[in-house]
Amino acid sequence: MGRNIVILLGHPGAGKGTQARAIMYRLDIPQISTGDMLREAIARKTANGKEAKAKMDAGELVSDALVNGIVAERISHDDCKKGFILDGYPRTVPQAETFSKELSNDDNLFVIEIGAQSDGLTNRLTGRWICPGCGEIYNTYSRAPKKEGVCDVCGWTLFHRSDDREDLVRERFRTYNEETFPLVDYYQKQGVYYRVDGMRPIEEVTREILTLIDKKKVLIPAGRGGNEEFAKRRRH
Ligand code: AMP
Repeated sequence: MGRNIVILLGHPGAGKGTQARAIMYRLDIPQISTGDMLREAIARKTANGKEAKAKMDAGELVSDALVNGIVAERISHDDCKKGFILDGYPRTVPQAETFSKELSNDDNLFVIEIGAQSDGLTNRLTGRWICPGCGEIYNTYSRAPKKEGVCDVCGWTLFHRSDDREDLVRERFRTYNEETFPLVDYYQKQGVYYRVDGMRPIEEVTREILTLIDKKKVLIPAGRGGNEEFAKRRRH
């Protein structure tokens, strides 16, 4: 049986992390967040972390080679055999091209853009507080924890991402529009692209994504996608 591979696209703050967690629990496949892996590498002061730090501090993308390497390694683990959710990868067309070589004939690929207007997202980021223990996400403006700075679920001290600062948020939106948005066209041409409205309540967005995955199992041909044979298969 092929793997269910879900790629989540969307502006910073659109809800990729939140939705990835919901899908992970429902489909029992892991969430792979390149941002989380890079932040961990920085905290552990590894060579990858040292290379990534300056770019991340500036709200820019780290090199394709670095992220392609960490994703290829991560998806080779046993827990990815049934599939996985990519949250924050690919983020450039060259990354998508490299990733397409990891796909096999019977994989089900879903690329879901969580649509949101960037002007409605700034507060979601500048007010965001994350639990390092269980990953729960809070927001000062819309979903404050019962006790300030403490996770309701597991009691850990919450942290605020250093790049969730207004000036860096603007830079990250710009980076998304210039470097990541072209992936919409890239995956649309392959017939594996879907869009959901991410400005609705979290549970509604989750329900729509899960229904989509359930009803539209899409077959990707020969690990490449995007060709005539593929279009024909979808019509039948
Ligand atoms: P995120 O947690 O997904 O918002 O990512 C935080 C930061 O990590 C981004 O602003 C980039 O600097 C870096 N990053 C995460 N994923 C990628 C990727 N696929 N390609 C390049 N840089 C990335």
